[in-house]
Amino acid sequence: MPELPEVEVTRSALSRFISNQKIVDLGFSDVWKKQLLRDGSRFASFASEKSSEFGMGGLIGRTVESVSRVGKFYFIHLKEVETQIPETWTVIEGHLRMTGGWWLLPKGAEWPEGFPDKHCHLEIKFENGSQAIYRDVRRFGTLKLMTDEEYYLRLESMGPDPLHDGWNMGKFKDALCSTKRNIKATLLDQSKVSGLGNIYVCEVLHLSSLLPTRISNEIKFQEAANLFEVIAPLLTKAVEVGGTRLTNLDDLQYIHEPQLYLDNFEVHLQVYGREGEPCLKNGCMGVVERIVQQKRSTFYCSSCQY
Ligand SMILES: [Zn+2]
Repeated sequence: MPELPEVEVTRSALSRFISNQKIVDLGFSDVWKKQLLRDGSRFASFASEKSSEFGMGGLIGRTVESVSRVGKFYFIHLKEVETQIPETWTVIEGHLRMTGGWWLLPKGAEWPEGFPDKHCHLEIKFENGSQAIYRDVRRFGTLKLMTDEEYYLRLESMGPDPLHDGWNMGKFKDALCSTKRNIKATLLDQSKVSGLGNIYVCEVLHLSSLLPTRISNEIKFQEAANLFEVIAPLLTKAVEVGGTRLTNLDDLQYIHEPQLYLDNFEVHLQVYGREGEPCLKNGCMGVVERIVQQKRSTFYCSSCQY
């Protein structure tokens, strides 16, 4: 499942590709449209129609401004319309969930043979002749239309993102102090920290020598500081590794579907997925163990994590 680094690479590629592009056509696969409509999706009801002069209704005629990200969510911002009102759609919120991804086709290029296939569920054509296709094998991914108000409420509900300015030790320590749950559960809670998933939580706890079963509000200041200090650098490194291996917009055809290339993001994982293997920490003779917390595997080393 994509975590923050994979979503960041998607965001960055999407942003470069669709920013300032005007949407001239948008179509769904029947199967996805039916599924979304059953869930009451406004995106499925409206997106393929023409935009009204107030920027409501559909997306045809709207222009993308930029693409941002908080945690594992990405936000496609739409350019303001002249007659903007509170009901105007200003943002499309996206989440890739298990298998979502975007395939991008520059003007004049051609898709590979056999593509688009049955897993392609949304096709967007832009005025400059380029195209973007959303592909999602398991169809758990989401796209939502939002007004400004809905977008800001959404942001308020999310914890700080370790790669953004609002991420600081004070807020991080407050988040830990506010709960008696184990530290792993707290780090996975997206309202406390945005963007960490199972893999990176195991890794940052190992890097900072903290046992995943420790109670959050009992963690000492120095321990919290050690943990804080390893989070952003590890995520940044994973973004760089994934980004350099995946992103090549100079190619005629640009394909991006993170879950097909998850290995590309692995920044030499120290504990995740290594049960029974020797701990890789310098000087540690321990063996990586696995326990289950909140129904998910946790990998750690009981010799060097306290
Ligand atoms: Zn160890």
